[in-house]
Amino acid sequence: MKVRLRFAPSPTGNIHIGNVRAALFNYVYAQKEKGQLILRLEDTDLERSSDESADGIIEDLKWLGIQFDEGPHVGGDYGPYRQMERLDLYKKYADQLLAEGKAEKDFSHQENKGEIDESHYAVRFKAGGRKVKFKELVFGEVEKEVEDFIIMKSNGVPTYHLGVVVDDHLMEISHVIRGQDHLSNTAKHIILAEALGFDPPIYAHFSLTHGLSKRDQSKSIQALREKGYLPEAIINIAMLLGWAPPDEKEKFNIFDKLSDFDPKDFTRVNANFDEEKFNWLAGQYLREADLDRLLALSLPYIEATGFLKEKPIDENALKQIIDTVRGNMKCLSEIGDHIAYFFQDLDYTNEELQTLLKKDDSQKVFKCFIDKLDANESLTQDSFKAILKEIQKETGVKGKNLYMPIRMSLTGEAHGPEMFMVAPILGKETCLRRLEKAIKL
Ligand code: GLU
Repeated sequence: MKVRLRFAPSPTGNIHIGNVRAALFNYVYAQKEKGQLILRLEDTDLERSSDESADGIIEDLKWLGIQFDEGPHVGGDYGPYRQMERLDLYKKYADQLLAEGKAEKDFSHQENKGEIDESHYAVRFKAGGRKVKFKELVFGEVEKEVEDFIIMKSNGVPTYHLGVVVDDHLMEISHVIRGQDHLSNTAKHIILAEALGFDPPIYAHFSLTHGLSKRDQSKSIQALREKGYLPEAIINIAMLLGWAPPDEKEKFNIFDKLSDFDPKDFTRVNANFDEEKFNWLAGQYLREADLDRLLALSLPYIEATGFLKEKPIDENALKQIIDTVRGNMKCLSEIGDHIAYFFQDLDYTNEELQTLLKKDDSQKVFKCFIDKLDANESLTQDSFKAILKEIQKETGVKGKNLYMPIRMSLTGEAHGPEMFMVAPILGKETCLRRLEKAIKL
């Protein structure tokens, strides 16, 4: 059996972590089965659909790495892939149902007119309250009563039901993976398909999500991309909404374990979007990402801070800075908050900081540190670690009383990345300058 799947968004807005799953689950299943993935734009809501939205969806999916074999942007043998370009097809099938008496004309939109215009009608499918039984991959046997429903509006535009059934048939879709909000439509789709003489596809419905409101634009793919989240973190959290790998490990690359994925394992209960888990995952992916890639991705954010104009530094030093601070971030737009002290001198105006720096122990540490730096040719991670040990031995100051003043005098902050990584990037000269300043407070 040929596996052909589709993502069929209505281009009426942008996609977020929740509704990207319809594309993702279909893509993953297509990858697993070596099938095809089709993009179909269900643009029949004339008032709300826009090209801008369609372009945005295509761009977001491309950025996430979800690729289509067919679609309005790549072509294919089953097009056109925009429903508004397929109106003649829907009309043909609506006419067929009318001719066979399985559907009837509906003039109710003309109710307030004196004379009925016979050429202007909607089409209603006669389901007649039939009980429809069907098999679905997640829920098993489902039974639903179906009342008559409109399949084509009086302007010749199909309703969602006719569009989806005709297109899934003509595009030879084998499996429909979609959200549970459509579970109640499936009975309609199945009897409509049967009335038209089509074999219905196999259906699987994934859960809805809590904690992701459509109006909350901060979880749109576009917003997350602009904030500098990595796409693999978004794919990972989206996969977890309604599906879990057999080993239940939360961080995973689904493309490394395709054989684990089976739509019948979708959870039936609603999935909860856990912001904390997402941020944790996002941080994990930043920690393991290739540094050249991170440099390219973070450069726009670094440039926006203006630091590079104050103190131009080479790519290698920038990469070291990124490597040093990435452990404290979840997305790259945060980088500006973590790197100022690599570029700007410190003024130690903060009172708390001053009190700490002025302590006897701190001053002892600074004095000793300056001597050691003077005696060392350059500052490396190893020499920094060695110097710290010597300071501890010679001054008797240790633990927090040793590390805090050093961190504070060199970065102006109480928390941050490992100092053995920070200090060599600052370099001997800058460290000396800051220590001299701290000693004169
Ligand atoms: N256009 C529908 C939606 O975005 C497609 C649903 C389906 O997959 O059938 O919800």
